[in-house]
Amino acid sequence: MTDELEGGCFCGAIRYTVTSKPRLKAQCHCRACQYFSGGGPNYYMLVSPESLTLSGDAPGTYRNPDKPDAVTRMFCKTCGTHLTTERPGLKERVLKVGTLDDPSAFRGPKIAIFCEEKQDWHVIPEGLPTFDTLPSNT
Ligand SMILES: [Zn+2]
Ligand SMILES: [Zn+2]
Repeated sequence: MTDELEGGCFCGAIRYTVTSKPRLKAQCHCRACQYFSGGGPNYYMLVSPESLTLSGDAPGTYRNPDKPDAVTRMFCKTCGTHLTTERPGLKERVLKVGTLDDPSAFRGPKIAIFCEEKQDWHVIPEGLPTFDTLPSNT
């Protein structure tokens, strides 16, 4: 993976660049991610906020008002693509791999998280470390 990545939403109204290497590459099987992904796990990378530059339209945000520790999800207000998530206590941004111009640059996840919420038909690559919930430091 090169140190510079580019991506954006499906319609192109929001664009971004990432200028430093992601700290973590993972797949998340939580129930919320199943809504946003279309049913499968969400593939994501953790990138530092300083290295992520957004351009174009301002994203819309959504935060579950009933959860005190809820994450904030950013999406394109025109096409609905979910681009990033901010989690309380996590300094990095969660960046959705499907929004990269070249998703093959991801080269696959290193861990699978929230496996206690996974569906029986979700696929986890053989040998990938799995976690029932969120491992510390992720
Ligand atoms: Zn869009
Ligand atoms: Zn998730």
